[in-house]
This record gives sequence, structure tokens and C-alpha cells, in this order.
Amino acid sequence: MSIDRAGLNALMEITSRPELVFVRGQGSWLEDHAGKRYLDFIQGWAVNCLGHNHPAMIEALDRQSRLLINPSPAFYNQPSIDLARRIVESSCFDRVFFANSGAEANEGAIKLARKWGQLHRKGAYKIITFDHSFHGRTLATMSASGKPGWDTKFAPQVDGFPKADLNDLDSVRALIDDQTVAVMLEPVQGEAGVIPAMREFLQDLRTLTRERGLLLIVDEVQTGMGRTGRLYAYQHAGIEPDIMTLGKGIGGGVPLSALCAREAVCCFEHGDQGGTYNGNPLMTAVGVAIFDTLAAPGFLDEVNARGRQLSDGLTALSDKWGMQGERGQGLLRALVMDRDDGPALVQAARDRAPEGLLLNAPRGNLLRFMPALNVTADEIDTMLAWLDDLITAVRA
Ligand SMILES: *Cc1c(COP(=O)(O)O)cnc(C)c1O
Repeated sequence: MSIDRAGLNALMEITSRPELVFVRGQGSWLEDHAGKRYLDFIQGWAVNCLGHNHPAMIEALDRQSRLLINPSPAFYNQPSIDLARRIVESSCFDRVFFANSGAEANEGAIKLARKWGQLHRKGAYKIITFDHSFHGRTLATMSASGKPGWDTKFAPQVDGFPKADLNDLDSVRALIDDQTVAVMLEPVQGEAGVIPAMREFLQDLRTLTRERGLLLIVDEVQTGMGRTGRLYAYQHAGIEPDIMTLGKGIGGGVPLSALCAREAVCCFEHGDQGGTYNGNPLMTAVGVAIFDTLAAPGFLDEVNARGRQLSDGLTALSDKWGMQGERGQGLLRALVMDRDDGPALVQAARDRAPEGLLLNAPRGNLLRFMPALNVTADEIDTMLAWLDDLITAVRA
């Protein structure tokens, strides 16, 4: 199959993309227009938690598409009820609102916190977020994000997101005033380069927010749904946040996200929140199939075993090449290199023959690994061996 260049140019240019068109996926493997296969350690940016085209997803899509696709969010449908119950029963949250993307779920979290501030905190609206954080690409979530330059890109930004430093409680304390309503963070900063919030920091943050009457919001769009080896990453710290957002893995590749909150915070009035596609049965049926696969006995044990294998392998590579080690939780990991080889390695990996390898470099000196949660031990060994060869080639 050749590339339809006129068609390709009909797509709006938003990023530099390699001239490859992917046509097929299976598990940890993707195939392009020319029939070349790639071992995929990006998986749609930590989205395809069961890999490409998992049978449980196909079966759910097929079954639900024959039953009912969209009765409208003004009516109940069974898959959204089933998925909400699963999330509520597996977490500290009491209610769920489904949306279509991580940014949309975070917008909902921001609105819910502001509404709660109007009702209970005399109109307090500021949400303290963190330097280098990533919460999405809508105007409000870009303003909430701590990516350098994002506060001026589409000015004027949405007001009310002062930035603290991750793992520095004093920096949070210093920003609290009577307009503050919440603190929002990623348990592991993903886009920033896999930087975990320390367990003790999360615990202290929970204590501080309780003392000061503030909501604690965890953005688990990347860390949720088993990615870090627990169903939700906040569980590692033994804390109970007030609000959590889920995205990416919750749909396993289809557009689905969730805003979860404890009963005391669920203060939306009719008309405050909604959306045409929200909680549609086609996507939530897939969510149920994904959830039941992740929650099956032994699944997360295997994620943790593969996470340790990847961690050990990356540490060995780091030692061999004089790099600066690796970090992460579960199957969200990063290799910290000693120089800015990232982009060159990403390209060399993709160009590798006869089979390519898909990697991500969120920073010049960093490689990020977010394979399918059911990646096999062999696939991890293969990736590590190829990566060692690629480093040799790039540094030759
Ligand atoms: C990816 C991501 C988002 C945005 O999700 P979209 O589905 O791309 O809107 C928000 N927060 C975090 C932590 C993410 O990793």
C-alpha cells in the first residue's frame, strides 16, 4: 500500500509525524502501510492498556454496537451503570461522571472544585497545581498545566492556577490563601518525564489539605487503571483524595474518561455538567471489559513483575552505558541518559530493520516506556536487547 500524499496533506498540521501509516495492530505489535512490523512501547501514549485490538475489547465493541450505541446522556444505559459501580467499589469515591478525554475529565474536576468553593468556601476558586505538570490541552487545563510557556500561548489564560514545586510541601503551604479551594496533582508526573510524587509528600499533602479545608484532586489520567501496579496510583500512598480523574487506559484505546468524587463533593446542580457523548454505552461497554480484565486475579501481580523486569533491565543498561539510572512505578518508567540521545534513539528505533521499535523521548535525555500492561517477558527482553544495540549504533 502506498501513501496517499494529497489525503495526508488534508490533515491539519499539528506535529511532525513520520511518513508512516499504521494499518494493523495486535498486542504489542503494529504494522505499517509497507507491511513493516514495530514493537510498540508507546501504546497510544499509555492508552492501550491491553495492547492493540485485545479480544475482550473487540467482543465488547461488537456486542454493544449491535445492541445500542447512543440513547443520549439524558437517559440511563446499562454499561455506564456497570462501569460506574466497578469504579466506585474499587476506590474511595462514591460517584462517577463519564467523559471522552482526559482534558474533559479534568475540566469537570476544575468545575466541580469551583462549584464546591462557591457553595462551601465563600467563592474560593484557586487550584494549586505543580510546575511541569500536564493536565490537558483545553484552555483551562493548559492554564492548570505547569509546562513552560503554556501560560502565554493562547493568552489570556484561565486564571487561578498558582504553581507549587512537586515534593515540596512548603511551596504548597506558601501559596494557600483564602481564595484557595483545592490542590491538584499527578501521582506520577507523566509528560514531565515520569517524576513520582513521593509517598510521604502525598500523605503530608492530604493532611495539609484536610487541615486547611481544601480538596485534594488526583489526575490519574496516565497513572490510573493499573499502570503503576495498583488499580489507582493514589493507593500506593494509602491516602484518600476527594476527586480523581481517569482517562487513557480506562478505555483501552477508545475515547473514554471519568471524573470521580466523594459524595460530599458531588455538588453539581442540573445543567452544570454534561456533554453529548458522555457515558455512551459503546465506550463504557469497552470500559467494563477493560476493567474486568485488569481486576482479574493475578493481573496486577503480573504488571508488577513486568515492571520489575523492565526496571532491572533499564538499570543494567544505565550501568553499562554510564547513564543516570531509571525511575517510575509499575509499567510507567523512564531511562535517564547521560546525554541528549533521546530523539536520535527514537528515530533509529523506528528505522530499525527488519522490525522497528516505537519509543518516546519526552525530554532530550530521557526515554519513556509505557508498554501494554499485558506485555510479555519476552517482549521486554527483546526491547531491551534492541535498545542496547541501538545505543551502540547511535553512539558509534
Ligand atoms: C494525557 C493526559 C491528560 C490529557 O488527556 P487527553 O485524553 O489527551 O485529553 C491529562 N492529564 C494527564 C496526567 C495526562 O497524562
